[in-house]
Amino acid sequence: FNSKLPGVGTTIFTTMSRLAAELQAINLGQGYPDFDPDPVLLQRVARALGNGHHQYAPMAGIETLRRAIAAKTAECYGARYDADTEVTVTSGATQALMTAVLAAVGPGDEAIVLEPVYDSYVPAIRLAGGIPVAVPLRPPRAGDPRYRPDWGRVRAAITPHTRLLMINFPHNPTGTVLQDDDLDELERIVEQTGILLVSDEVYEHMVYDGVRHASVARRPALAARAFLVSSFGKTYHATGWKIGYCCAPAALTAEFRKIHQFMVFSVSTPMQHALAEHLADPAPYLQLPAFYAAKRDRLAAGLRRSRFRPLPCPGTYFMLADYSAISDLPEIDFVRWLAVEHRVAAIPVAAFHGDPDAPASNRQLVRFCFAKRDETLDDALERMRAV
Ligand code: PMP
Ligand code: GLN
Repeated sequence: FNSKLPGVGTTIFTTMSRLAAELQAINLGQGYPDFDPDPVLLQRVARALGNGHHQYAPMAGIETLRRAIAAKTAECYGARYDADTEVTVTSGATQALMTAVLAAVGPGDEAIVLEPVYDSYVPAIRLAGGIPVAVPLRPPRAGDPRYRPDWGRVRAAITPHTRLLMINFPHNPTGTVLQDDDLDELERIVEQTGILLVSDEVYEHMVYDGVRHASVARRPALAARAFLVSSFGKTYHATGWKIGYCCAPAALTAEFRKIHQFMVFSVSTPMQHALAEHLADPAPYLQLPAFYAAKRDRLAAGLRRSRFRPLPCPGTYFMLADYSAISDLPEIDFVRWLAVEHRVAAIPVAAFHGDPDAPASNRQLVRFCFAKRDETLDDALERMRAV
């Protein structure tokens, strides 16, 4: 039997959450909140369930939700997506990403990803028959502790076979966000090429310090070639609902839907009704930066009182921390040790690298998720001060 994905095992998120449960460790690993969604949204779900929305939704998503997504994307980014032909509701961002990659990439096509890279991208490219080309983000260096996109290296990786560039900003796991001049650079890189973009913007509403999210939807030249992916799981503290969406020009959406209809056909009807109502109110997502910045600052302040050194976190609900003052174990071994000895679970950044054992993948950095109640963060910090 020839595996389609040789070398792929169980994801690091599953592995670390299982270990955290076994050890009764505080789980700052897998990215999900330990608090409930807005009660108003939960009432909307209860109402939708009571209103008999129990059968298949239309393949592309219910009309009111598609319209709400188009309106919200117009409001936030000035983009004009047609709700009928350019918006598709998906089973989370994961399915949207897989579907977009299968639509965009064929056998022998090259697809560029930026490393560290979210774990589903490379397997999606391989399943499509494509060739993943990893371009590293510029790592932290003396005087600048941030990861940054290295557009020169992206440009250098382009060949006549490049079909797709996959980006993810705000970036999991580094928290890197784009600025307007990054979008300028991206426009210059792809102009006069046939390169498509997948822009995974699931953390679009988690950008801090007054910076505005640099969505590809702000730039018509980028939006014209992009599958823009987002997820209600992140925005509404409901990762278990698995509902997201993809906005793309009509020609790309037509190809996307050909695959979507045979992958899931449609997604949970009552949840779509509830989300359509909830999305009409911008307040919940506009409150997210202040809500999460407070948690970020709490975690950073606590880590500074430990031997971990937090890195800047301009976006996402993840913070990287350097543990070189504690241990010289490689990252995968360090997170196991931390979970076993101190009962705090984290994610090794090395797991976001094609070769997790390579020295460049092991910068003695771990990722903590701060989408947690303040008590959870405080308990974890108390344990980490003993490390
Ligand atoms: N992309 C990124 C960068 C993510 O971090 C995640 C989930 N944590 C996803 C996609 C998947 O989103 P969903 O849960 O909606 O499938
Ligand atoms: N995206 C989440 C994270 O980065 C995990 C989602 C998953 O477990 N697939 O932690």
